[in-house]
Amino acid sequence: MINILRTREAVKSLVKNLQFSGKTIGFVPTMGALHKGHLELVKRAKSSSDFVIVSIFVNPLQFNNLEDFEKYPITENADLKLLEEEGADAVFLPSAEEIYAKRPLLSIAFGGLDERLEGAFRPGHFSGVGIVVSKLLNIVNPDFLYLGQKDLQQVAVIRQLVSELSFDVQLVIVPTQREQDGLALSSRNLRLNSEERKAATILYRVLTMAENELLKGVSWFEIREKGLRMIASEPLARLEYLELVTTADIQPLVQIEKDLSVSVCIAVYIGEVRLIDNLSIIS
Ligand code: AMP
Repeated sequence: MINILRTREAVKSLVKNLQFSGKTIGFVPTMGALHKGHLELVKRAKSSSDFVIVSIFVNPLQFNNLEDFEKYPITENADLKLLEEEGADAVFLPSAEEIYAKRPLLSIAFGGLDERLEGAFRPGHFSGVGIVVSKLLNIVNPDFLYLGQKDLQQVAVIRQLVSELSFDVQLVIVPTQREQDGLALSSRNLRLNSEERKAATILYRVLTMAENELLKGVSWFEIREKGLRMIASEPLARLEYLELVTTADIQPLVQIEKDLSVSVCIAVYIGEVRLIDNLSIIS
């Protein structure tokens, strides 16, 4: 049976015992509404840690849009069943009060990283991510932290957080899991109706077009224009950004550079649902 923990104290005492007996702990933070993308992180964690703890917490602090927060899908029973089947050892399911006795006055800035792409469209988002991840790392004290490449900028933000605040944890990044038609798995996909679901493939279509053209040597300016035209021809889609950046620190680029990992990042509203995706390319 999976161990269900609802308080910080319960997690801390479990972790203390495990660490006393020399077990390594893998931690997979999530906001629930679990899908195969999350489960891939759990799989990866199981393969490289002795004990796997998953957290499910819809962090109010990282939502800049109240409607997005209120409509965030919650599927607790199904989540527990999936985690149990996948062999996760424990799940931390705190209430908002358990994490925030009061709304923190603290905010965290990442020296510009948090102002680009996602940060430009979601003010305060990465500060909220930084605060909740710091709190969770302090509670769980894991050896390994498993994150999805799907949220590429979040990976860069957490890498900076862990390095600059000296958290003693190793990051493990897991590739993006996709539907057969390329749509990246996301909890927000549950909010798409069938027409929107079809339209949502535009993100991956633009990303693969961009990858092919970049590798052929076409300029990013031309590729971006082509991407914008593709999105404009999809009536349910509205672009927020389409950018070429360095994979490691999300610096804007206008062309690919030899031996440097670059990524194409995209954010698009499909109807009222905001979706993001990215592809990394090494030439
Ligand atoms: P979330 O529940 O959206 O906060 O995601 C929890 C973790 O799962 C994050 O590290 C995400 O990057 C990761 N994740 C979400 N979707 C996917 C996916 N399609 N493939 C791989 N990892 C994912």
